[in-house]
Amino acid sequence: MKNLKDRDKKQLKIRVKGIVQGVGFRPFVYRIAQENNITGYVLNDTEGVLIICEGKPSSLQEFLNSIKHNPPPLAKIQDIKITEHKPKGYKTFSIRKSKDKKTKDTFIPPDTMVCDECLSEFFNPHNRRYHYPFITCTHCGPRFSIINDIPYDRKNTEMKEFPMCKECMSEYLDPVNRRFHTEPNACPTCGPHLFLYDNKKNLLSEKTDEICDFVADYLKRGKIIAIKGVGGYHLSVDATNDNAVSLLRRRKNRPFKPFAIMMKDIKIVKEYFSINEEEERLLISKERPIVLIREKRRLVSSFVAPNIQHIGLMLPYTPFQHLLFSHPDIMALVMTSGNISGEPIISDDEEAFLELSNIADYFVTYNRKITVFPSIKSTESSEK
Ligand SMILES: [Zn+2]
Ligand SMILES: [Zn+2]
Repeated sequence: MKNLKDRDKKQLKIRVKGIVQGVGFRPFVYRIAQENNITGYVLNDTEGVLIICEGKPSSLQEFLNSIKHNPPPLAKIQDIKITEHKPKGYKTFSIRKSKDKKTKDTFIPPDTMVCDECLSEFFNPHNRRYHYPFITCTHCGPRFSIINDIPYDRKNTEMKEFPMCKECMSEYLDPVNRRFHTEPNACPTCGPHLFLYDNKKNLLSEKTDEICDFVADYLKRGKIIAIKGVGGYHLSVDATNDNAVSLLRRRKNRPFKPFAIMMKDIKIVKEYFSINEEEERLLISKERPIVLIREKRRLVSSFVAPNIQHIGLMLPYTPFQHLLFSHPDIMALVMTSGNISGEPIISDDEEAFLELSNIADYFVTYNRKITVFPSIKSTESSEK
């Protein structure tokens, strides 16, 4: 016979839909289950997240409140369905393997700019991910651009090509680690890395720091660089260099349409542009939109936005962009989509060399594919 304590217990089946995969939802549920003495399990499936939880009614209420009111920052809950069932007497709470079911009714999270914690590790010489451009955690990094299928598990992403090393795996399996179940988790030992090529596809370097120094030097000398970003290739030139910007206009056959630029941080932006509170809020927001702002002091070439008072500006969002801007020579860069006029941004490496080698002098690329997965509902990629 069950004891009194167990008789008080209830089981709830909670079905959560929305942007709930790839945003640290399972680790979050695991943590609040521990805090509230809840047993059962959580898993990702093609409909979203499924939670089976058992506990005292008051604990279950607390647990449910946390899910509804304090979900992880990148999660967007659209619907929660709760049904009550007979308790099975689970002894612990666990994260179970994802279920592959037929219906596909979940949303893929967008790619998200590198978070502050990852960025401080990225610039810490004692960290094992120092200057590692694919640093990521539960709160940041690529999602939409690496996924091939749902549920959102490593095996369904382009990260399946990169088996985790021992250290990464232990982070991935540790419920209190920031990288617990971070599907794109990687490090210099096991993850993707950068390559620098010239436009004849000669490999010039595979070392991130060297690539950054080379690229900063090329930019200073007015060269055009194709840089593989999160969702596709960008073409970049030194925005302060008249010759470089007009060369890009000629080669891209884009005589007048304004280019967007990128600058290091909000402090430097304020030295050269007049921005109000709202513009500042937008610029530093995690979506990293291009914001039209007015020049205060001349910095960028007049060829960037000919005959236009405002300049479209955004702040860095990938680790490599931050690294580039840590270089003292780099003040402002044109960042325009690598594409043929009117066509979508190029994300395939072969196509990039084919289509962009008569525009770009050099290519910064990496050995992870950008996926095109239009068959499922999605939120927009953050790529410009
Ligand atoms: Zn992060
Ligand atoms: Zn690793």
